[in-house]
Amino acid sequence: MTDQDIIEKLQKKLKKKRFSHTLGVAYTAANLAFRYGADSQKAFRAGLLHDCAKYMTEEEMLSYCKKHEIFISDVEYANPSLLHAKVGAAIARHEYEEEDRDILEAIRWHTTGKANMSLLEKIVFTADYIEPNRNMDPELGSIRAEAYENLDKCIVVIYEHTLKFIKGSNKHLDPTTLEAFEYYKTLI
Ligand code: FE
Ligand code: FE
Repeated sequence: MTDQDIIEKLQKKLKKKRFSHTLGVAYTAANLAFRYGADSQKAFRAGLLHDCAKYMTEEEMLSYCKKHEIFISDVEYANPSLLHAKVGAAIARHEYEEEDRDILEAIRWHTTGKANMSLLEKIVFTADYIEPNRNMDPELGSIRAEAYENLDKCIVVIYEHTLKFIKGSNKHLDPTTLEAFEYYKTLI
């Protein structure tokens, strides 16, 4: 599918706000790719598709995983919204004909991130947090600037803020998030 086909299909599936966020992530990811010398077309495509499963309810994602034999961890059972990354990668493949491994992996890891991410994975993870429609974090201004200065440092700050947010809410912490945070902390 062309980017334009994907955009049109996503616009039908996603709510307005989610669709705007999606475009924001795609363009931000392409920009970060320009900055860090990654493949900007792949970054744009991964950004477009990263939340393609967001139209599904938690029940729908759980049954999709069971049907397609996608592993569901304990944390994911407790917090099924986390599944939209895994399910998104599967839907990108089956419903948007995306075959590129790097793109599918970037979708797969966009929510928790993980230790030792590829450049594309880091870009999509970061773009998801800083795209222009986001406004939940009062320090977004400096985080956006950091994203173009030092990507690993920016990722550490994103994790710090995410962990603070998770601890202050009743959301479950995915151990992958913590592991990734520890990993990037030692890098900088
Ligand atoms: Fe997401
Ligand atoms: Fe997103």
